[in-house]
Amino acid sequence: MAELQEGKRVNIKKKKARSLYFGVAMGTGELLTVDAVPRGLDCKCICPDCGTRLVARKGEENRHHFAHETNNECYYGQEMSIYRAFHDFLRKNLKFYLPDAILKFNSNKKPEIVRKGHLLDLTEVKYVSEPGKYPPVLLCSADSNTFRVILNIEDYYNESDYREIAAAGKKSNIPVIVVNIESADEITSMAELSKYIMEPGNKTWIYNRVVEEWDKKYRAKAVKPEKFEAGYLCPAQKQQIKNVYAARREDCEHCWYCYDRHAEAFCLAHSGIDHVNDFRKQPEILKKEFETINHIRPIKKISEYQCPQCGAPLRRRKGPNGVFAGCSRYPACKGSRPVEQSTEQVIIYDKNKSPYRK
Ligand SMILES: [Zn+2]
Ligand SMILES: [Zn+2]
Repeated sequence: MAELQEGKRVNIKKKKARSLYFGVAMGTGELLTVDAVPRGLDCKCICPDCGTRLVARKGEENRHHFAHETNNECYYGQEMSIYRAFHDFLRKNLKFYLPDAILKFNSNKKPEIVRKGHLLDLTEVKYVSEPGKYPPVLLCSADSNTFRVILNIEDYYNESDYREIAAAGKKSNIPVIVVNIESADEITSMAELSKYIMEPGNKTWIYNRVVEEWDKKYRAKAVKPEKFEAGYLCPAQKQQIKNVYAARREDCEHCWYCYDRHAEAFCLAHSGIDHVNDFRKQPEILKKEFETINHIRPIKKISEYQCPQCGAPLRRRKGPNGVFAGCSRYPACKGSRPVEQSTEQVIIYDKNKSPYRK
């Protein structure tokens, strides 16, 4: 657990003055709400972050809260008090609602739920905090499976922070869930924690092994498609360019069979895989479904085309540069058309025809 706290420190960010609603009882170390203690210094509580004595302010005007006796704000007093409250709640209830595990694609492909969320029974909750270190380490376990809970209080973290947190989780092999708390002032009592812990909303996986495994499975099925003109041959037959089923690079980037628009290998259409369920299907069934979904037309044979010079059928011929479609009346007629080598589609350069199939 030590290595989790040794990771790169998140920069301390500027923030507004905060109210504390939980204090740590001197002596017992118990976490108490401001309503549970007498007013003033008689509350006998200290700040959960800096350890300074607290004063319970229970006046008529403002919402009851704790303040540091010295009137000095410490950086993470309120955050640490919420962490402590989370720990208390989890330890007492031993339940946590795991959010859906969602695989997101680096493309226009719709995200997929790879494991449904559910209420989990916990067997152990661990909490480690060291003075001056933020965030503390809050770990939940169900038997041998452990995950870390990180609180994102008032949009504290940004995308690059999340990447760091995910990397740290991966390195230590501990999945991470982030709980979003829009306003720290929403948590003034234990009861208010329930919706953040026992219900599906407000949380997401930042690092999850199931998601990672699915990502690997998908990547293993994705290939870099063969080049054609300024783009690629298209197994999904999205459109025709020069009579060949092909797509431009930008078409590929917007296609739902594109797995990762930045990666070298990115087309899933070759495997016919679209959804998580497709991995369980027999290849023949997958192929049939793929053909139906994408309205795949059989590629016309070379002999179905006519010679551009005399109109006689063309024939498959082999030359020094590979296969081409030559006139069946050869040598009387020397008409021919080029052929795309891997699919043997006859290429027709027709300047009057739109390259896009409507
Ligand atoms: Zn403090
Ligand atoms: Zn001919």
